[in-house]
Amino acid sequence: MTKYIYAFDEGQKSMKDLLGGKGANLAEMKRLGLPVPDGFTITTEACIEYLNNHSKLPDLLLKQLDVELDALSKRIQKSFSDDGALLLVSVRSGAKISMPGMMDTILNLGLNDENVKKLANKTNDSRFAYDCYRRLLQMFGQVVYGIPMSSFDTYFDQYKTQHHYESDAEIPAEGLKEICEHFKAVYLDEAYKPFPQEPIDQLTEAIEAVFKSWDNDRARVYRQLNEIPHDIGTAVNIQEMVFGNSGEKSGTGVAFTRNPITGEAKLFGEYLLNAQGEDVVAGIRTPKDIETLKEQMPHVHEQFVKVSTQLETHYKDMQDIEFTIENENLYILQTRSGKRTANAAIHIAVDLVEEDVISKEKAVMNVEVKSIDQLLHPNFDEQSLKQTSVITKVGLPASPGAASGAIVFSAEMAKQQAEQGNKVILMRPETSPEDIEGMVASEAIVTTHGGMTSHAAVVARGMGKCCVTGCSDLEINITDKVVHYKGGSLYEGDIISVDGAKGDIYFGEVETIQAERSHAFEKFMQWSEENARLDVRMNAETAQDIQAGYQFGAKGIGLVRTEHMFFAPERLIEMRRFILFDTQDKRIAALNTIKQYQKNDFEEILKLSGERPTIIRLLDPPLHEFLPNSNNEKATVAEQLNVTIKELDQYIESLNEVNPMLGHRGCRLAITYPELYIMQAEAIIESALELKAQGVSCQPEIMIPLVSTVAEFTTLKAQIISRIETLQQEAKEHIHYMIGTMIETPRACLIASELAKECDFFSFGTNDLTQLTFGFSRDDAGTFIGTYSELGILEHDPFQTLDVEGIGELIKIASQQAKSANPDITIGVCGELGGDHKSIQYFNQLDIDYVSCSPFRVPGALLSTAQSEVEGGRLHV
Ligand code: PEP
Ligand code: MG
Repeated sequence: MTKYIYAFDEGQKSMKDLLGGKGANLAEMKRLGLPVPDGFTITTEACIEYLNNHSKLPDLLLKQLDVELDALSKRIQKSFSDDGALLLVSVRSGAKISMPGMMDTILNLGLNDENVKKLANKTNDSRFAYDCYRRLLQMFGQVVYGIPMSSFDTYFDQYKTQHHYESDAEIPAEGLKEICEHFKAVYLDEAYKPFPQEPIDQLTEAIEAVFKSWDNDRARVYRQLNEIPHDIGTAVNIQEMVFGNSGEKSGTGVAFTRNPITGEAKLFGEYLLNAQGEDVVAGIRTPKDIETLKEQMPHVHEQFVKVSTQLETHYKDMQDIEFTIENENLYILQTRSGKRTANAAIHIAVDLVEEDVISKEKAVMNVEVKSIDQLLHPNFDEQSLKQTSVITKVGLPASPGAASGAIVFSAEMAKQQAEQGNKVILMRPETSPEDIEGMVASEAIVTTHGGMTSHAAVVARGMGKCCVTGCSDLEINITDKVVHYKGGSLYEGDIISVDGAKGDIYFGEVETIQAERSHAFEKFMQWSEENARLDVRMNAETAQDIQAGYQFGAKGIGLVRTEHMFFAPERLIEMRRFILFDTQDKRIAALNTIKQYQKNDFEEILKLSGERPTIIRLLDPPLHEFLPNSNNEKATVAEQLNVTIKELDQYIESLNEVNPMLGHRGCRLAITYPELYIMQAEAIIESALELKAQGVSCQPEIMIPLVSTVAEFTTLKAQIISRIETLQQEAKEHIHYMIGTMIETPRACLIASELAKECDFFSFGTNDLTQLTFGFSRDDAGTFIGTYSELGILEHDPFQTLDVEGIGELIKIASQQAKSANPDITIGVCGELGGDHKSIQYFNQLDIDYVSCSPFRVPGALLSTAQSEVEGGRLHV
C-alpha cells in the first residue's frame, strides 16, 4: 500500500525526493530535537498521482489523511472542534528543490464562524482571533478559489482610511469582525460559493490547491529558469499553527546564518513583532534587524543564535531559517540552504573550508556555476558616476550589479520592451511572484517597500539581477505611471541607473566597468582548477578579450575566428574586392592587403598567448555575410570598387546561394580559392617567424573548418604545408605548429578515425554540428524551439545545452575513434556548448582534452569540469 503521508518524526533530510526539501528538513529538525511545531507531510508521489489522475485526490490519500489527523490530534491534544484546545494548521507547499514563493501557503486553517469565537475565548483576545480569521479568508480565497487579492485588499485599505487607522494593528476586534463579514460576502460575489465552514473540507481543498499550484504560470516560469524538472511534483506540509501575531511578545522572522550578500560570518535577518507568515517577505511593513531582538527578547535571541549555529554545522552550509515567536517561545518553521549572491557564495565556501567545516572538494560543489558568471557582473565607473546626480540613497542594497534602463511600472511592459531590445528598470511598490517574468526581462528592480528578505530582494539575488528595495523616499504610482522623488517626478521611459551593491539610484545612464575579483575568488578558482580534468581555453580574437580570458585562467585559445577581423570598414572593402572580383590577379592583390592586416593581428594574438596553444581557424563563413545589402551600402561599395551598381548587382547575383549555411563556406571556399588559406597560413607562420626573431616563442595551431571528407582535409593540408615549408626554408627557421580540423558535420564524426590519422587536433564545432545533425537552422530555429521545450518534445534548446542522445553520441563515437586511431591527437570543443555547465559535465566524461568558450565563461567552465570530477570523476563512457 502506498504511504502518502509521513509524520514529521518519520522522516529525515535524505528523503527530499518524497517529502520535498521543506518536509525533509522539518523532519530532520524534529530529529535534532529543535522546537518545530508538530505536523505531517503529504508526499510528492501523492501530487504526481493527483496531477496524473485528472486532478482527483487519491481515495487512499483521503483515508490516510483522516488517520494522520487523528494521530496528530492525539499527539498534541488538540482538535478542529475542541473548545479549549483548538487545532489550527498551516498548509504549505514544498518541492524537492526550493522554489521560494512560487507556490501557495494557507495559514490559520480550521477557523470558521464557530472556531473564531472559541479562539477568542481561549486567548481572551478577540482582535487576535478575528485577525487570524480575516487572514485565512484572504489566503484561502486567493489560493483555493482564485479570488484576486485586490478584492480583499482594496476593501481592507478603504476600511483603514475611512476609520483613520494608520497601521493594521490599530484596527480593533469589532472592525476585524466587520471585515471578515465583508470578506465572506466577497466569496459569494466572486466565487459564487460560500467560504467552507468544515475544517476538513478546508483542508482537502487547500491540499488540492497546493498540488494545482505546481502547475501555475509563475511556478512553471521559475522551473524553466532554474532548470527544475516539471514532473517531480510538490509535497504539502500540514503543521500545527503557532502565532506570531498574538501580541507584542510574538513575532515572525527570516534569518540567514551568514550574510547572504557579502558572505560575512554573522547572523543576518529581519523580524516583525505581532505579525504572521508572509508579513516579513511581503514587504508591507519594514522589518527590524535581527540584532534588535537581542534587546527586545534577549533569551529568545540567544536561543535563536544557538539553533542557527547548530543548523549550519549540521547541514555544513549557510542556512536560511524561518521562525516564529509565540509569547516569547521560539519555533523553527523551516531551514534550507540559503540563496546568496555569487560573492557571498565564494566567501562562505572559502570560510567554511578555513573553519574546517568542509573540504575543498565540498567547497567546489557548494558554489553554483551561475554564481561565478554573476560575479563577473559590472560596477559603475566612478568617473561616469561623478557626472550624474543621485535620485535616492535611501534604498537597501538587495542584490548587487549595476544597470541602466528606462523606467517601466509593470511586468508586462518590462517584457514587451525587452522583447523589442530595450533595457528597462522595473519599478514597483513591492513585487510579487506574478512579476517574475517582468523581473527576468528587466535590467534591475527597484521597490519602495520591503527589506532585504522581501520577495524582490530574494528573487533578484537568486537571478543575479541588480535590485534595490525599500526606497521609502520615493513614491511609485503604478496607476499614473509616475515616480515622485524629493524635488521632482520621473515618468515611464525616463532613464535611470541602479547600483544594487550600494542601494543608490541615479539619473540617466552611467557607464559600467567589470567587477574586480577578490582574494577569496582567486583561492576558490585555484581549488576548482586543482579539481578540474578538462583544460579550459577561450574563443577570442581581440587583445582585450584575450587578456581577460588569461586572467580568468584560460589555458590557451581554442578558437580565433579570423572572419571576425574583417568587419572594420577598411578591411571589409578588401574582403569585398576579393570576393567580388572575377580575375585572379585582382583577387590576389586584395588578398595581399588583407594579409598585412592578418599578420599584424596574428602577431598580437600569438604574442599574448606565448607558448600557450593558439588555434587560428581559417576563413569559414558564407560569403554573403560580407556583401552589401541596402541600396545605400551598394552605392558606396560600387564607388569604392570602381564599378557600376549594375555590375555590382551582377556580381552579387552570381554569388547568390539558396542555402548559404549549407553552401560555399568553410574549407569549400579554399578548395575553390586555394590562395585564400595559403595567404592565411603565410600570415600565421610569418608572424610566428617575426616573433621568434624577437625572442618570443609561440604555438600556432592551424584549423581547417567544416570538413566532411578526408580528401578535403588532405588536399588543403598539403597546400598549406608546402607553403609553410618554403617559408621556413627561406627564413632558415623552424616554427612548431600543428594542423587540424573542426568537426562540424555528422559525416566528419563518422569518419573520425580516418581523419584523425591526418590531424594533429580535432575541435568539435557544436554550433554547426547541432545545426547539421538536427537540420535546425542555427540562425532562426528559436521560432519553434520554444514550443518544442514547452511541449516537452525537446528538454533543452540543443544550441545551448548538449543533446546527449544525438549530438553527444556523435561526439562520443568520434572522439573514441579518433583517440584509438591517433593517440597523440588533442581533442576539444569550441562551440557554445563548450561553456555550458551541463554539456561540460558530459564532455568531462569523454575522451576530450579541453573545452573552449568566451572569456567570461572560462571560470564557470573550470568550475563545471571540477564539479563533474568531484561528483564522480571520469566514467570512460
Ligand atoms: C561551431 O560551429 O560550433 C563554431 C564554433 O564555429 P562558428 O560558430 O564560427 O560557425
Ligand atoms: Mg562552425
